[in-house]
Order: sequence, then structure tokens, then C-alpha cells
Amino acid sequence: MEAVVVIDMLEDFVTGELKCERAEKIIPNIKKLVETARKKSIPVIYSNDAHLPTDFELKKWGKHAMKGTKGAEIISQLKPHKDDIVLEKRVYSGFFETGLDSVLRNLKVDTLILTGLHTNMCVRHTAADAFFRGFKITIPKDATEAFTEKNYKEGLEYLKNVYNAEITETDKIIKRWEK
Ligand code: ZN
Repeated sequence: MEAVVVIDMLEDFVTGELKCERAEKIIPNIKKLVETARKKSIPVIYSNDAHLPTDFELKKWGKHAMKGTKGAEIISQLKPHKDDIVLEKRVYSGFFETGLDSVLRNLKVDTLILTGLHTNMCVRHTAADAFFRGFKITIPKDATEAFTEKNYKEGLEYLKNVYNAEITETDKIIKRWEK
């Protein structure tokens, strides 16, 4: 069983405090992927930063996606549906103290389709923890982005070389589901 994981597609990461202009172009692809996944009963999981003022990570990035603020909300174009799972995180990895692992085990998921921001940071660290736990990793490369082209390209290379991620495209995944 696969699951789609949408990472940090939040107001602050797309248009707010840590705005990433390159994020705009992946929104339609993620939207298409999660809408199709829901139709096929493939779980859709959101992994969202929701920081507390004491979080160590804020020393590096400043305040962003603070729990309970507008900046921590999922962007309006990708609002979760009632059967989706929404988990809060406070570091880069979607696995760290979030309960994601048991959610995936209970759903009998063995493959994660990772999307969202950023290819070289939260996607990469979530992939690391997924790999350590024996999950297969699929990356639709048109559904993830980073601050720069260099960050994005190097991020993809690392995911492929180190975590054995399958690098593919949104439409190819959808086509596979529709077979
Ligand atoms: Zn953060």
C-alpha cells in the first residue's frame, strides 16, 4: 500500500515568512495527486510544521509556521479532506515524535510518495527516517521544490543515491494507479 505525504505546504513556506517562489508551480501537481489518491482510497497524510516558541530550529530559521497561527495553516489550494490525516511536526523529519510511524503501520503502508517542501530539507529528512524504518520512497519530482535550482537538483540526487528513492513524475504515478 502506498501513501501520499504532503510536507509543509503551509502559508509561511509558500507566501509567508519563509516564502519560496518556486513552490507555486508544484501546487497543481500535488492537488492532482491527492485528489486522485482519495478517489483510489490511497491515504493522504499531511506533515506540517507547527512550532512552539522554544523550538531549537527557530535559532536557525527565525519564527515560521508557529503553531496556531495563519502561517502554520495548509495553503487554501490544498486544504485537507475529512479522511486525510494531518500530523504536526517540530523538526525537519515528519517521523520525529509525530506518530507517523504507527499511522503508516496501521494502514499497512510500505511505500511513501513524498511531496512538498523542501526537497533538500524536510523531504530529505523524512525520507531518511522512512528509509531507516524500511519504507520504500517515491518522489514525484514535479511535486517537490526547494529555494534554489541547485538545492532542488542536489536534493533529488541525494534522495535517489542514498535512500534509493524512485524519482518519477505526478502523471506517471496517476497512470500507474489507473491501470
Ligand atoms: Zn520548521
